[in-house]
Amino acid sequence: MNRRNFILFSALASGLSSVTPMAWALDFGKIMDAGKTLADAESISDDDLKSYFDQMTVHEDAQNQIAGPSTPHGKRLAKLTKGLSNYNGLDLNFKVYQTQEINAFAMANGTIRLYSGLMDEFTDDEVRYVVGHEIGHIQSGHTKARIQTAMRTSALKNVIAATDGKAAKLADSQLGDLFEKVIVAQHSQSNEREADDRAMDFMKTLKYAPEACVTALEKLDKLSGSGASWLSTHPSPRERADRMRTQLAA
Ligand SMILES: [Zn+2]
Repeated sequence: MNRRNFILFSALASGLSSVTPMAWALDFGKIMDAGKTLADAESISDDDLKSYFDQMTVHEDAQNQIAGPSTPHGKRLAKLTKGLSNYNGLDLNFKVYQTQEINAFAMANGTIRLYSGLMDEFTDDEVRYVVGHEIGHIQSGHTKARIQTAMRTSALKNVIAATDGKAAKLADSQLGDLFEKVIVAQHSQSNEREADDRAMDFMKTLKYAPEACVTALEKLDKLSGSGASWLSTHPSPRERADRMRTQLAA
């Protein structure tokens, strides 16, 4: 049996008064054991991590207005993502959130969400650059590393229940917390460069115009200060645009 030792620290905090000393001793042994598991977050199975991303996806989708397939944004999304249901072995699923925010995000389960505000500002190929960049974060392992860190260090470790071989079902507030830490938090510059490099590969491999990597970043640079949410997680677009330009000829 693939038993996961995901720990229930909250059992220690909230359940102590109601358990017998013997039961407490047993639970405590389990907690110590699982504490080691948490310290080594890589031991959380990929299936469990996928479950957490799936839960986050459902949660975010429920909180946003999704552009239907017959809307202008829905139709454009279908056109832009034609043939992209899988990339390099990663199954992808796309939706558009109807909001003026200039933003996009991806999760390691293949969820990619584009905000209509971003689509309105960007050309088709610039949107594709964003998609390639977000896939780049997934395929470089950035997204997975972040959820592992979040599981290990955030308040989540206090609420994730120890279950037999199954991921915990997280509450809405926990999913919101996880989303902040895994998706909204700013990436490091080195992660940004790696994702940009993969975006350039993505554009060239799929025969999209790679110049869009440069123009998208220049556009983001101009949009600085006018509420481009993507900028808060993806800093320094000008330096990155210059870097992408040097790769165009490569
Ligand atoms: Zn990024």
